[in-house]
Amino acid sequence: MTKYEITVGIECHVQLATKTKLFSEVDNDARGKDPNTCVSPVDYALPGMLPRLNEQAIRLAIRAGRAMNAEINPYSRFDRKHYYYPDLPKGYQISQFYHPIIGAGHIDLPDGTSVRIEHAHMEEDAGKLNHYDTYSLVDLNRAGTPLIEIVSMPDIHSARQAHDYCKELWRAMTYAGVTIGDLYNGNMRFDVNISLALPGAKELGKRAEIKNLNSFRSVERAIEYEYERQSKLLDKGEPVRQETRGWNDATGKTTFQRSKEEAQDYRYMPEPDIPPIRLSQEFIDEELKNTPLLPKDYRGKFADVLPVDTLEVLLDYPELMRKLGELAGKDNIKRVANWFASVLLAEEKSYEMLSFLPKADYLEELAEMAEKQELSSTGAKEVFLKFFDPQMKGKDAHTIAKELNVLQENDTGALEAIVGQVISDPACAQAVADYKAGSEKVLGFLVGQVMKASRGKANPGTASQILKNKLT
Ligand code: MN
Repeated sequence: MTKYEITVGIECHVQLATKTKLFSEVDNDARGKDPNTCVSPVDYALPGMLPRLNEQAIRLAIRAGRAMNAEINPYSRFDRKHYYYPDLPKGYQISQFYHPIIGAGHIDLPDGTSVRIEHAHMEEDAGKLNHYDTYSLVDLNRAGTPLIEIVSMPDIHSARQAHDYCKELWRAMTYAGVTIGDLYNGNMRFDVNISLALPGAKELGKRAEIKNLNSFRSVERAIEYEYERQSKLLDKGEPVRQETRGWNDATGKTTFQRSKEEAQDYRYMPEPDIPPIRLSQEFIDEELKNTPLLPKDYRGKFADVLPVDTLEVLLDYPELMRKLGELAGKDNIKRVANWFASVLLAEEKSYEMLSFLPKADYLEELAEMAEKQELSSTGAKEVFLKFFDPQMKGKDAHTIAKELNVLQENDTGALEAIVGQVISDPACAQAVADYKAGSEKVLGFLVGQVMKASRGKANPGTASQILKNKLT
C-alpha cells in the first residue's frame, strides 16, 4: 500500500446491554428464541402505540461517552428517519440526527495514534428478513433493540489501523459494560468507508462503503481488497464510483450492492412521541462514577508492573483484567498474569474457563506458595489448572496442592534425613566418592536421587545445598 493514500472512516453500531428494548418493555436478548416472540405492539408498530424511553439505555450511553473520551450532551433529542423496508413496519427509524447524546471524542490506539469521534447517537435497530427459496419472512425480535452509532472522523490510514481501532472500540465498550460485545451475534457491526487519493491531493477520492462487517479481521481484509480494487481503477484512469458494497468472507472480495450517487432524503423530523432528553449534571456524574475500569485505566494501573505485551494480550479478555484488578498492588500479580497469559489461554477450552475464574484470594495464595518455593513451577501450574475442575470447586490452593501431592519438602530436618539415606545408599557410593574427589557434575545425579526418595516433593535447591554441606 504505497502509491495512493488510503483514508478510512468507520461507523459502528453497538447493541446496548439493557434488559429491555429501547422503547418497549420486552426482553432485549432474543438469542436462541423463536422469531417474533420478543415483540410488543410498539415493535410491530400497531396504530396508536406509544414508545417509552428506557432509562437504562441513557445510562449506558453516558458510559459509552466516557469510554470514548467524549462530552455528554445535557440536551439531546430523537428524530424520525423515514425509509420503507419490510423489517421496519413503522416506515421510519427513531434515531438522533440534530442533537445526538454524545459529542466529539477520541479513541487512543496502542500504537500511539488516535482516532477522533465525530459524534455518537442513539437509535433503535430494525427487524431482520430471513430469505428462503421463493419467499422471505420478517422477524421483529431485533426491532427496537437499543443501539448507539459511533461515527469516526476519517483519521484512519491503513487496514491495520482500522483493525486496531475496531478492536479498541470493542474493548472500550465491553469494559464499560455498554454491550455484551458478542461479535458473532452482531452486537457490534462496522460500516467502513474507503477512499484513495494521491498523496497531497486536496480532496478525498470517491468512497465505497462496505456495510455490516462483524469482525476485526473482516474489516482489515475488506480494506485491503478495496485498496487493490480502487487503485487498479485509478491506475487505468477509470473513476471509482460512490457505492455500497458487500463483503464476502469466503471469497475475500467485496461486491457491488447499490449505487449511492445521490444522498437519500430521509425527511428527518423531531420525534413527537418522545420528549427531549434533559440530563442533570448530577445524573451524568452518577453514571460516570458507575462506569467500571476501562482499558486505559488498566494500562495506567499496570504499566509499571506487567510487560506491555502481556498486558495487551490480557486486555482482550475483560474477565481476566477484572480479576487482575482485584489483585492490584499485590506483590505476586506478575506471576498470576503469566498463568493467565501462558497457561490458561493456552488451554483448548480457555474460552469456557473464563467463566470459572478462581477467587482472587486463591490466586494470591497460590502465587505466594510458588514464591516461597513450596511448589515447583510445574506443581503450581497443575494446581492453577485444577482451580477450573468442577470437582475442585471452592477448594483453596493449599488444599488442592495437598490432594495433588505436589507440595515441596522444605522442612530441612526431613530433607536432611532423606539426604542421609541417599549418601549411605550403596547404589550411590560411587557418585559420593566421585563428588568427594572433585567431580561436581555428579551432584545432579545425587539431587535426582533425593527427589526420587522424596517422591518429587523435595525442593531441589534446598536438597542440593544440604548435599554440598554434607559432602564437603
Ligand atoms: Mn444507524
